[in-house]
Amino acid sequence: MNIYSKDELSILREGGKRLAEIREKVAARAVPGVKTKELDAYARELIEEAGDTPAFLNYRPDGADYPYPAALCVSVNDEVVHGIPGERILEDGDIVGLDFGVKHKGFFTDSAITVPVGNISPIAWKLIEDTREALMRGIGAARGGGRIGDIGYAVESFARPLGYGIVEILGGHGVGHRQHEEPYIPNIGRRGTGPKLMSGMVLAIEPMLNLGTEKVMLGKDGYAWRTKDGSLSAHFEHTILVTDSEAEILT
Ligand code: MG
Ligand code: MG
Repeated sequence: MNIYSKDELSILREGGKRLAEIREKVAARAVPGVKTKELDAYARELIEEAGDTPAFLNYRPDGADYPYPAALCVSVNDEVVHGIPGERILEDGDIVGLDFGVKHKGFFTDSAITVPVGNISPIAWKLIEDTREALMRGIGAARGGGRIGDIGYAVESFARPLGYGIVEILGGHGVGHRQHEEPYIPNIGRRGTGPKLMSGMVLAIEPMLNLGTEKVMLGKDGYAWRTKDGSLSAHFEHTILVTDSEAEILT
């Protein structure tokens, strides 16, 4: 578990700010008729134009058969996370998760958003809004002196009563020196359990909520996770700095 120095944090702040700006620009292009690979190309162009490196491109997670082939993960409808962008054309009524990392001056940040494509159903809107809120609850629970389980508890105690499937086999993580660091951050949990949270830790918190059950399955490409029941899924993520009071959102 890493604790980041003042100088390192200023680099992470700048990287996170750049990531957030690019995230909003790419999100604005998620409209009917656009190919998912066009969103990827745009994200990559913006990251590289700023002099940074797309952190996901060629990243090889533990157990993967081949490195990730894009800068951006684009996960449509029942895809939960890690959708590989390609020829798929976004349609009116889709919801699309956009997830990517930026390496700025050697330091990594990570963020995701789920956006509507054209006009979406009220239930899809509610899923998006509730998943965003679940993320904010998780961030609100991350505080120096607390425990990792406080975050999962906050997400779960918000999302469970609303009837969502909370994805359990994927979760958040430390980030900064590397794309994925200790500790793993589940989106379910018990207060006061798990590793201790300390001021200076940098974490990516990322709840995934399904309209149906929590069950997900990995696709044939080895990356894209889908809901097992085909229901819609949403995902939001921020990189945050843990402090002794409210966490600071870096992205
Ligand atoms: Mg991410
Ligand atoms: Mg992440």
